[in-house]
Amino acid sequence: MRNDNVGLIGLGAMGLSMGKNLLKNKFNLTVFDIREEPIRVLEKLGAKAAESPKHVGNTSAIVLLSLPSSKEVENVVLGESGLLHSLPKGGIIIDASTIDPTAAKKLANECNKKSITFIDAPVSGGTIGAEKGTLSIMVGGPNDEVDECKHVLQAIGTNIYHVGNTGAGQIFKLINNMLVAINLVGISEGLVLAKKTGIDLKKLYEVLKTSAGNSWALEQKLPKMIRNDFEPGFKVWLQHKDLTLAMGLASQMNASLPMTSLAHQMYESAKAVGFEDLDHSAVATIIQRLSLKEMNK
Ligand code: NAD
Repeated sequence: MRNDNVGLIGLGAMGLSMGKNLLKNKFNLTVFDIREEPIRVLEKLGAKAAESPKHVGNTSAIVLLSLPSSKEVENVVLGESGLLHSLPKGGIIIDASTIDPTAAKKLANECNKKSITFIDAPVSGGTIGAEKGTLSIMVGGPNDEVDECKHVLQAIGTNIYHVGNTGAGQIFKLINNMLVAINLVGISEGLVLAKKTGIDLKKLYEVLKTSAGNSWALEQKLPKMIRNDFEPGFKVWLQHKDLTLAMGLASQMNASLPMTSLAHQMYESAKAVGFEDLDHSAVATIIQRLSLKEMNK
């Protein structure tokens, strides 16, 4: 039977919009974040505020997580005030964060010991997809439990793919994010050449959008890159985290990923020069600094 008692932990760029969409879809929502501000926003819209992840687990059957990295997810699930101390048997944790596939499997094992299911469900579509409730969701987990929480996933996304067992969703997601990063580095190189040759940048966008070089990254990010508008969005440090995870997985699997490795280094530089909280398209500045004098003043 459909259970509408849902928790949400992590109310950032993605989680806050997920919360709004869950409330629009009439779920009984309990929320928690380490920051007060987004809790108050959702409270005003009808959510119950919790004081800890454990507190969320007291009133929820299904809990959605949207946290930065493996460390925070482990803390929220296994920590002293974690979900495993309160979520009832049969409960489901849906992790919409992008984390290490191995960490997802480890968390699933720990949860299984308490008859709780941990499903990985990383998302794609950016903050706009989160706002509109049109995210793509790559789900890894057992069939019955994935079916049991489809109504929650449908409230935040439109393309829901059950791609395999726990951890598989994260592998799909890491491949997706490798491609986004490689795309952004490529677009940045195009921008350098465009500026050097003095062609019309707006025209360039118009033409590329309908040509073979088009991509999601180009459509969403090139106009902002042209304006040097790097308001996040998806932050540089999160993109760097995902590339680090992809390189780690590649190393475990004996796979050589030269383009990903180069993109990783560009994001390493973006982080090193203090761009960590800018949008991931700010890698354009790093690439432009290699060739454009005006970027180095
Ligand atoms: P964010 O930094 O904006 O939000 C993370 C939220 O988690 C913040 O509100 C923070 O206060 C909260 N938080 C941190 N530690 C916590 C803890 N211990 N307990 C409770 N709350 C805690 O990040 P985001 O951009 O919303 O990304 C969330 C996840 O989604 C990441 O794993 C990211 O890789 C992934 N993602 C992001 C985007 C995007 O476009 N931003 C797109 C797809 C996937």
